[in-house]
Amino acid sequence: MDEIDVPESHPRYESLLTRHRIEHGVDLGITSRQGLIAQGRGEAYDYLLGERTTESADRAERAAAAHLLRADHPVLSVNGNAAALVPGELVDLADATGADLEVNLFNRTAERMERIADHLREHGAEAVKGLQADGRIPGLDHERAKVDADGIGDADVVLVPLEDGDRAEALAEMGKTELVIDLNPLSRSAQTATVPIVDNIIRAVPGITEHARDLQGASSDELDRIVDDFDRETALSAAEDAIRSGDL
Ligand code: ATP
Ligand code: MG
Repeated sequence: MDEIDVPESHPRYESLLTRHRIEHGVDLGITSRQGLIAQGRGEAYDYLLGERTTESADRAERAAAAHLLRADHPVLSVNGNAAALVPGELVDLADATGADLEVNLFNRTAERMERIADHLREHGAEAVKGLQADGRIPGLDHERAKVDADGIGDADVVLVPLEDGDRAEALAEMGKTELVIDLNPLSRSAQTATVPIVDNIIRAVPGITEHARDLQGASSDELDRIVDDFDRETALSAAEDAIRSGDL
C-alpha cells in the first residue's frame, strides 16, 4: 500500500510516489490535511532544485550524521508527513546513530500520536517516545510545547524534519543543536537550524544514514572536524542560488 503502479523509469516517479504516500498517510489517519498543503509547498521547491540532492545538501547530510554520532542523546522528531513518507528510513537512521524516535505533532491529537507510533513500530521501531508528554518546550503554548522529558526534553541534538518555524526557534532557544530538513531555505525552520538540510526528506533521511554508516568507525576528532567545517550560511545561500539560477 506504500507503493504505486508507476514504473520507476517514469520521469515523475519520485514525486508521484511521494504524493501517494502522503495521501495514504491521510487515509491511515497519520498525516493531517494540513500536511497535504505542506507537501505541496515542499514539492514546488524540490521542482526548482531539480529534484536532486545538491552537493551542498549532501555536505549538510554528512554534517548532520556527524552531529548525531557524537551526540550524548540524539532524538529524531517524527511528524505526520515524516511518518507517512519515510517510516522505515527513520527507523534505519535511528539504528545507525543510536538516536531515539519521538512523535512530535503540531496538530496534536491522542489518536494521531498513537497511530504514528504504531506505524513506526510496524516499520521496525522498538521504542517510540512522545506519548508521555511530561516535558515542555518553554515559550510555546500548551499543546505545541509538549515533549517527553526523557526524549526531546533531554536531547542535546534533535533532527526535526518539516518543522514549524515557531517550534524550530523555541528548540534552538533551549540550546539544542537542531538539524532541520526543509526544502525551503528561506523558511524560519531552515534559518534557525544549526544544520539546515535543504533536500526532500525522502532523499535526505537515507542520505544521512549512509553518511552515518560511513562514519561509524570515525574518531571523535574526525567527527568534530566535519561539524566545524560545516557552514550554515554557505549551505543556505547555495540552496537559494540553486533555486534562483536553476537550469531546469
Ligand atoms: P515558516 O517556516 O516559514 O514559518 P511554515 O513552517 O509555516 O513556514 P509549512 O508549510 O507549515 O510552513 O511547512 C512545511 C515546510 O516543510 C515547508 O517549508 C516545505 O518546504 C517543507 N517540506 C514539505 N514537504 C517536504 C519534503 N517532502 N521534504 C522536505 N521539506 C518539505
Ligand atoms: Mg517552516
